[in-house]
Amino acid sequence: MMNEKYEVIVIGGGHAGCEAAAASARVGAKTLLLTHKIETIGAMSCNPAIGGLGKGHIVREIDALDGLMGRVIDQAGIQYRMLNASKGPAVRGPRAQADRKLYAAAMQREILNMPNLDVHAAGAEDIRLGKDGVVHAVITDKDEIINCDKVIITTGTFLRGLIHRGLQTEPAGRVGDRPAVKLAETLERFEFPLGRLKTGTPPRLDGKTIDWSKCDAQPADAEPVPFSFMNTKVDVPQIDCHITYTNDQTHAIIRDNLDQAPMYSGQIQSSGPRYCPSIEDKVVRFADKDRHQIFLEPEGLDDDTVYPNGISTSLPESVQRKILKTIPGLENAEILVPGYAIEYDYIDPRALKHTLETRKVPGLYLAGQINGTTGYEEAGAQGLVAGINAALQAKNPDSAPFIIDRAEGYIGVLIDDLVTHGVSEPYRMFTSRAEYRLLLRADNADQRLTPKGIDAGCILDDRKSAYLEKSRQLDAAMALTKTLEMTPNALLDYGVKVNQDGTRRSAFDLLSYKEYGFDTLFQIWPELAKIDESIQEQVAINALYSGYLDRQMADIHAYRREENLVIPQDIDFDEIGSLSNEIKAILKQSQPQTLGAASRLRGMTPAALVTLMRFVKQGDSKQNRKSA
Ligand code: FAD
Repeated sequence: MMNEKYEVIVIGGGHAGCEAAAASARVGAKTLLLTHKIETIGAMSCNPAIGGLGKGHIVREIDALDGLMGRVIDQAGIQYRMLNASKGPAVRGPRAQADRKLYAAAMQREILNMPNLDVHAAGAEDIRLGKDGVVHAVITDKDEIINCDKVIITTGTFLRGLIHRGLQTEPAGRVGDRPAVKLAETLERFEFPLGRLKTGTPPRLDGKTIDWSKCDAQPADAEPVPFSFMNTKVDVPQIDCHITYTNDQTHAIIRDNLDQAPMYSGQIQSSGPRYCPSIEDKVVRFADKDRHQIFLEPEGLDDDTVYPNGISTSLPESVQRKILKTIPGLENAEILVPGYAIEYDYIDPRALKHTLETRKVPGLYLAGQINGTTGYEEAGAQGLVAGINAALQAKNPDSAPFIIDRAEGYIGVLIDDLVTHGVSEPYRMFTSRAEYRLLLRADNADQRLTPKGIDAGCILDDRKSAYLEKSRQLDAAMALTKTLEMTPNALLDYGVKVNQDGTRRSAFDLLSYKEYGFDTLFQIWPELAKIDESIQEQVAINALYSGYLDRQMADIHAYRREENLVIPQDIDFDEIGSLSNEIKAILKQSQPQTLGAASRLRGMTPAALVTLMRFVKQGDSKQNRKSA
């Protein structure tokens, strides 16, 4: 028995685990991060990159809540690119290629120096419940019993992980790491709904053996935009990535060897990520395509390892070599680590509340790939939310839950999708999953979420003061641009042409026209030049979207009205006579917590929703009469 008792224990030092442990510690709970190895804290199991479309938004939201991922990638990003840079700010996706070693080292520095947080290298094997059925202790593979109030499991692909390479299989959590078998048995004992998913990774190549002259270079952005709101610049040197393509010859080899591909031989039955398919999957599913793009991504500044993004495969190593021989630039490429697929247990996330606490075992939270997601960003976001909630509850059982709703952040969309719909394949974020995209932009994540984080107590002082100062400047700049006005006629003297309708236009109004930016405004109102450049950008985006945002806000008010109607936990859906058996089955399986969540269930009809709403409201008034 360890003498120390912890308020929160986080199991697993991956992307979810690091955010969970750090968030719990920031809220002030005495926290332990229990993970297999200190040196794999922050390891990137697959692609050495952070961000992208939808995912980049999540990283900025994590950062807005004082999470680690944004700050860490800013210490390790070796190729920053703003995806969709030519499109509107709402769908731009910040992305950075990472130096794998720098990333893990920066994450370990953050974790090991965090106040309130201890780290212990051991495998968690069991969770002990008290007589009341509430989480009580964690038991490790070193036979330690560590007492605690809350546990967050973030074990990624490790639960009964099984690696496939051709027809060979090997139990592992990822290459080089043992799987977590006993913990999976614990979760089975708790009767959680377990399923199997799969994901895959490409072979790692020796960059010294690649003929770069045959590939197209892809440079980094000239001015990298940092992920963290706390940073103004990126100091890490920036490098090129390269692009090459598969061809008919490559596809012929893959087709000839499909009987050795575990997905097609029947050896793997579980679903993989539809949006990140293996090369054998792409060749079969998109048979009309004569080539597929491969990004050759260096894994570090002083590392020759190259990650060929786009050819994830579980074909045997010998076939992987044959494939490479057909690809321009890779004809002589040597494989450092062969590609593989991994199958693992996940828990149907409908077993969770929006706080990521399990419905079955009070005090037990789950976050990350264990909930059926894929990606570092999705994992980190869940870790953050679970960490804040576990810590708040540990400190005060009466504290309000920390829930981000669908109109506040992509993190809200992610968690609501998971706990409402469950998953049938690894879930990843896309901007198209969000209803309120114009509001949920990467650039305003701090304005949306930092105040909420301050209320929850998960924002440390330096960020709090930086945020308050930025908000003060932004409010002042918004007010100034709305006060400075001129008639359309007077504007003509500055070459600004708007409808000659006699209505005065403010500087803010003019910014809503694509053709007029701050450069034009400075000539009319020189006092605007005192506004800081980053604030100017924010004001210009607000102006560009102002008309649409007003309409979106009206939708959001309607959504919140529905969302706020809570469905009692002990509701018996069978009692609602006028619901069909099919709808009752949907409701019973998902146990939505609010009318809003019920409305998003697949198969729900408007009529069923009205019936449910009436039933809940009637119950409320009965309850009120009883207590009166
Ligand atoms: P992980 O990062 O896996 O971290 C789990 C941590 O838990 C590890 O530190 C481990 O040591 C620890 N742990 C496990 N069991 C125990 C235990 N019993 N006791 C103590 N510690 C324990 N993502 C994509 O977006 N696209 C991809 O194409 C993609 N491909 C992938 C391919 C492979 C082969 C793998 C393994 C992963 C892939 N991923 C991909 C997923 C990405 O790596 C994960 O989504 C992300 O790492 C999940 O984060 P996590 O924190 O949930 O788990």
